[in-house]
Amino acid sequence: MVINREHSTEESRRLQQCFNDLSQIVALSTALGRGSLSQLVADLLEMLLGMLHLEFVYVRLKDPVNAAPIELGRTAKSLDGFIGPKEIGSVLNNALGSNPQTWPANEQIAFCDKSVSLVSLRLGPQGDMGILVAASTRADFPEETERLRLDVAANQAVIALQQGRPSSEARQPANAVDEPLAQPTIDTVSREGGGELEQLRRAVESLRLREIDIQSVVDAIPAPTSIMTAEGEVEAVNRPVLEYFGRSVDELRHWSTSDIVHPDDLQPTISAWRLAVETGEPYEVESRHRGSDGVYRWFHVRGFPLRGSDGHIVRWCVLQIDIEDRKRAEQALRTSERNLYLIISTIPGLVWSARPDGSADFFNQHYLDYVGFSSEQAQDWGWTAAVHPEDLDGLASAWQAFMATRQAGEKEARLRRFDGSYRWFLFRANPLRDDSGNVIKWFGINTDIEDRKRAEEELRDTQAKLAHMARVMMMGELTASIAHEVNQPLAGIVTNANTCLRMLAADPPNVAGARETVRRTLRDGNRASDIIGRLRALFNRKAPVSQPIDLNEATREVIALSLNKLHRDGVSLRTRLAEDLPRVTGDRVQLQQVILNLLNNAADAMSAIDDRPRELMVSTGRDEDSCVRLSVHDSGPGFDLEVAERLFDAFYTTKGDGMGIGLSVSRSIVENHHGRIWAALNDGPGATFSFSIPGSSEVTISIGGPEGKGTLAANNIARDVG
Ligand code: ADP
Repeated sequence: MVINREHSTEESRRLQQCFNDLSQIVALSTALGRGSLSQLVADLLEMLLGMLHLEFVYVRLKDPVNAAPIELGRTAKSLDGFIGPKEIGSVLNNALGSNPQTWPANEQIAFCDKSVSLVSLRLGPQGDMGILVAASTRADFPEETERLRLDVAANQAVIALQQGRPSSEARQPANAVDEPLAQPTIDTVSREGGGELEQLRRAVESLRLREIDIQSVVDAIPAPTSIMTAEGEVEAVNRPVLEYFGRSVDELRHWSTSDIVHPDDLQPTISAWRLAVETGEPYEVESRHRGSDGVYRWFHVRGFPLRGSDGHIVRWCVLQIDIEDRKRAEQALRTSERNLYLIISTIPGLVWSARPDGSADFFNQHYLDYVGFSSEQAQDWGWTAAVHPEDLDGLASAWQAFMATRQAGEKEARLRRFDGSYRWFLFRANPLRDDSGNVIKWFGINTDIEDRKRAEEELRDTQAKLAHMARVMMMGELTASIAHEVNQPLAGIVTNANTCLRMLAADPPNVAGARETVRRTLRDGNRASDIIGRLRALFNRKAPVSQPIDLNEATREVIALSLNKLHRDGVSLRTRLAEDLPRVTGDRVQLQQVILNLLNNAADAMSAIDDRPRELMVSTGRDEDSCVRLSVHDSGPGFDLEVAERLFDAFYTTKGDGMGIGLSVSRSIVENHHGRIWAALNDGPGATFSFSIPGSSEVTISIGGPEGKGTLAANNIARDVG
């Protein structure tokens, strides 16, 4: 049976204090022989006032000789000297009536402008010896242990009165009992001298009273409590102890040789107890005690000595606080900690934690095994030695940003394996904050993303091949017009060269004319070379490069290549290119491929239109969100709204000879530039295809990944902090 729920140490201290107070109260009455009865009662009141922090405490005793009652009282320090026992008595009379027999046990009255809670305790079997009143400004006065102290004090006052009455104030007994709880011996009795039989009778009587006191005091304590003799023998135990163990006091006396204490805890308990008895110091042990049901429960055992007036230990009081629940909780915590540790050790990631200043204080085994460091080597900033030198600055500034913002964040970086090879990891850090939002710890996990990185790279490679293929196909369509484009300057060169020859052959030679024709020849040569250069750029499959681009200029170049084809297709072209357009950062060839694709598609879409002009307009401008936009507006048939979503899917085509990859490639190019591409139906006939990408100041694009192979990744801190 569980007698007692777990008590906090605070509760245990409270009980200990209560027990000390009780033993002091009991001890006081035994000092009766050393002073007058009124002095004893006055001391008792003084003691209660201090112990219970009372506003006042008051006693009214009936004097069997005189008719007038004897009044004694003590008030709190603040009232000292102002209010005497008589004044207290009259306040009580006014508030409760003049007959103390009718005063209620508990009452709330006004006293010196304060509201006080009163407790009245009648003295004597029928309250015929008087009354004791205690008052506190606390509304919840008296709580359980305060009541206990008042009851014991009232009992002691009655005992003292009963003992003191026969010879009243004139009584001059010898030091019958020096030590408050020590049992008197024949020696002490005989020292009293005279009327030996009577003295012996009184000693036995007082011994009996004291035994009753000890038992009643112990019984009044709600926690399992035992009283031991100074030598360490069990003397008295209270009901909770008897009920828990289900054994007699005699059986409990042999606790050190029976199965009462768990065998594993017996030796430490005996040692602690022996040491306490030897040194006279309080002791504490935690041990398992076998209950009446045969089950052991954990107890916190606190033993403290009770001393007589001369400082000798007269008894030991041993409190036994049930801590089974706490022990179980501790065990559960240990188990869950072990489980957590197992999880952390087996998790397929590198787990770590860091102090608020960012220095690391924990690495899981997996982490240490991976980098091949000892825990000490990795501590603080030691782990950074394994970060790839090229990624260290980026990782450090990301880490600083997390700490400055106190937000979770992630950053990719390469980490060296014990064998010297590097793998890509995603470093992810999460803060643990206290109630005021301060970071008290960082927890992190680094996930191996090497495979993902490789897959991304392969994807980019495939995309690049596809884009190239699409470009070559588009250029195929342009061959005729390009041939024409190149042919024109070539024809010009031939004509100019002939003219030059003629001018030089004249007599006299026309040198000025020849110089002019050579200049024209040069101009045409350069023009042809420009065209070839642009074509080569578009045909070549080169690693993408990141550079600032004037989108208007790039558009004009594409138009120059397409112009001839557009003419042949009967398309009239207009342009509306915005002035002061911000530059964009990215790959020029890739963006030109997108523009070329949109122009070709528009021209294709209008090829079947005969009933209206085939009009195409290319415009550029700024979008609201500081993006640069390019639109290609046509007067073709448009598209069905149901398929709008699919236009950008790979292999979607409505053309007999189409591949359906132009728009899909365009989309991946635009998205790699952190932009978007979309199609809309015009108010009139036709459709408008547009894309927009952030202006240069908005985003820095780094093209060329760690291996220098065409990665395109935003490197802005906002994303890293995420
Ligand atoms: P392809 O040109 O090989 O068909 P695209 O991916 O470039 O591949 O285009 C996919 C489809 O989108 C086209 O087949 C066509 O149906 C539609 N489309 C593209 N541009 C236009 C446009 N300007 N007007 C109407 N439909 C268009």
